[in-house]
Amino acid sequence: MIKKEKPIFVTQPNLPPIDELTPYLRKIWDNKILTNGGPLHQELESELCKYLGVEHISLFNNGTIALITALQALKISGQVITTPYSFVATSHALKWVGAEPIFVDIDPNTLNIDPNKIEAAITPETTAILAVHCYGHMCDVDKIEKIANSYGLKVIYDAAHAFGVNCHCGSILNHGDLSVLSFHATKVFNTFEGGAIVCKDLKTKKHIDNLKNFGYLTDAEVVTFGINGKMSEVSAAMGLLQLRSIDQLLESRGKVDQHYRTKLSNIKGIKCVDGAGESKFNYAYFPILVTEDYPLTRDELFDKLKSYNVIARRYFWPLISDFMIYRNYPSATKENLPVANKTSNQIICLPIYPDLSLDNVDYIADIIRG
Ligand SMILES: *Cc1c(COP(=O)(O)O)cnc(C)c1O
Repeated sequence: MIKKEKPIFVTQPNLPPIDELTPYLRKIWDNKILTNGGPLHQELESELCKYLGVEHISLFNNGTIALITALQALKISGQVITTPYSFVATSHALKWVGAEPIFVDIDPNTLNIDPNKIEAAITPETTAILAVHCYGHMCDVDKIEKIANSYGLKVIYDAAHAFGVNCHCGSILNHGDLSVLSFHATKVFNTFEGGAIVCKDLKTKKHIDNLKNFGYLTDAEVVTFGINGKMSEVSAAMGLLQLRSIDQLLESRGKVDQHYRTKLSNIKGIKCVDGAGESKFNYAYFPILVTEDYPLTRDELFDKLKSYNVIARRYFWPLISDFMIYRNYPSATKENLPVANKTSNQIICLPIYPDLSLDNVDYIADIIRG
């Protein structure tokens, strides 16, 4: 096989035709409102509620500020049970509100926090569970809810990967006290930078809206230590435009996913990560595990792909618990997190995006087949 001239990156940002953005930009120029909950911001909030099937949404300038604000809205402090197998922002958000992340191991099949290991980590200091729907695959929401209810804990879902994913009961964003989305450029739905909190009642939404606007209640009253989390009108315009084609985009991703699964089946030592039976999925990532039965190590395969100009990513390696700032936490040890450690050393996310040609999927699969 010959090396591709142009790199095939793990993802490409969704960029709708630039001409289609112009009418939205014109609206912004006509309105002369650039931010602070402008008309496009409001329109995107209501369109997203409809599209996602959720009650209320509050848009943010990015997913990390949305996560921090969600924790702040629920007054989270003390210890919070979370997964080490995620993007570092998950734990960072806890630190920003002064809470301590307590790492719990993951389930080997879903790669989400293992609900059977949560109870052993609960102490009198525990206030919440911050779980991640990793790669968009649903957490065991029922078990988590049951544990949270019996110990009086809040539940926050980092749903940064889970845009548009549904389960038997509708959007998975309706589980837990709050769910948080990211609309970063690399995500399936992007507003350049952006994010959102999904909540179930208007009172909570209003509180969150205050928190993202410095804590202003009226122009003369600041009632809480809020932050600037507002989404700009340009970002909202990008979101509105992208929403028009999102179903097609997800469908194209689904075809890439299906093709990978066909081409990678029966390769000894390669295991595609399966979902948890979602009724609608977003195909945001294509993770594979390079197990002991494969002739190369994960890093050797990663380098081999790179030598052919296929730029995969080792999401999530290193684990959050292995970064120097978290490594000394009592719950960060390898003994406490065997599955997460093993997975982190076997994982590769292969390129997936709507325009990725099936020829290129063949090319990538052929490299892996060896
Ligand atoms: C992308 C991501 C975030 C952070 O979102 P930003 O919009 O980049 O701030 C948080 N958690 C997870 C799991 C993510 O993938």
